[in-house]
Amino acid sequence: MIIRKLKLKLNKKQTEEIERYLYHLTSVYNWAIRKIELNAKDKIYFSKLDFANILAGYSDKLDIPSHTIQGTLSQAYNAWDRCFKKQSKKPRLKGRRNRLNSIIFPDPIKPPKDNRIGLPFLGKLKFHKQELPNGKIKLGRIIKRPSGYYLCLWIDAVHNFSVKETDKAVGIDPGFSTLLTLSDGTKIDNPRELRKGELRLAQAQRGKRKKLTARLLERQANRRNDRNHKISRKLIEKYKTIYYSNDNFKGLAHSFGKSVSEASLGKLIGMITYKSRLGGRDVIPVNSKYTTMTCSACGSLTGPKGWDGLAVRNWECSACGAVHDRDINSAVVVLNSGAGYAHKGGMINVFN
Ligand SMILES: [Zn+2]
Repeated sequence: MIIRKLKLKLNKKQTEEIERYLYHLTSVYNWAIRKIELNAKDKIYFSKLDFANILAGYSDKLDIPSHTIQGTLSQAYNAWDRCFKKQSKKPRLKGRRNRLNSIIFPDPIKPPKDNRIGLPFLGKLKFHKQELPNGKIKLGRIIKRPSGYYLCLWIDAVHNFSVKETDKAVGIDPGFSTLLTLSDGTKIDNPRELRKGELRLAQAQRGKRKKLTARLLERQANRRNDRNHKISRKLIEKYKTIYYSNDNFKGLAHSFGKSVSEASLGKLIGMITYKSRLGGRDVIPVNSKYTTMTCSACGSLTGPKGWDGLAVRNWECSACGAVHDRDINSAVVVLNSGAGYAHKGGMINVFN
C-alpha cells in the first residue's frame, strides 16, 4: 500500500462544504465519544460494526455520505478501544484546541483525470499536478492543515525500490549534537533549512503569533519528513546491514528536551527500518549500554561515563592510547558488537 498526499485547489463552494462537514462530524465524533463512555458505565458495549451503523439514516439529514459518518464513528470507537486496551489515554472531545481535521472516505475512488478527482457528494476536486502510482485507490481522507486542504490516498500498489548488491555493513550512533554518526566517520547533521526554521519558529512562538506558529510547525514537520526520506534512502542504497544503537529516545528527549525530540530520531529509525524491508536489507538494533564507554580499538571500558560524559567530545583510551571522537567511536562499537562481538556483563569480548 502506498500513501500519496494531493494538495487540493478548492473553490469557495467546496471549501465551505468541507468546513460544513468538519463542523457536523465534530459533533458526531464528540457525541460518539460521550455515548460510549456513558454506556460503558451502564455496562452496555457495542460491537464495532453495530456502532458504525448507530447513526444510519442521518446521512440525508446532514447531507454527508453515510460511509463518511460511519468512518467518524469508527474513529471514535477506535479511540476508546485503544484506551480500554491501555494503549492510549482517554480520548478527548474535539473542540477549539484540538480540532477534528480529517474527513474519511472509506470507499474505493476512481483514478483522477486531468488533475481532478471525484469524491462522493463533493464532486470533482482540483489538485496540484502530481503523478500517482498505478493501482486501485482503496480509500481517501481529506486533511485540513494550516497551509490548506489535502487529500490522502491509499493506493494498492507496490513500491519499486531496487538497490544494488552489496555486503557492506555500517554502525550508526544517533546523537544529540550530530543527528547520526556513521562508523566510517561520516557525520550527518540536520539540513540547514531545518535548523533555520527552528529559529523562526521560536521567534513566532515568543511573539505569540498563533497562525504563523501553526504554519511554521507544519513546515518543520514536512522538512523533517523530507530529511528522513533522504537519509534513509541513502543508507539503504549504500549498505546491506545497518546496526544502530538502540537508545531510549523518549528517555533522552525527556532529559535533554528540545534538541533530541526535534531530531525525532525514532521516526528516522522507523523509516530506515521500513525501507530496509523494501530493499531487502537488514536493520538491527544493538544494545547501546556500553557503546560510549568502550574503546573501539582495544575493547576496554575506558571511555566517558554517565551523563557527565556527554560533554566529552574527544578522549584518549588509557589502556591502548587510541584517540577517539566520541560519536565515531560509538558508531564503530555499534558496528563491531552488532557484527558478532557480544556484550557480556559489562565486558566486551572482542577476541571471541
Ligand atoms: Zn583502547
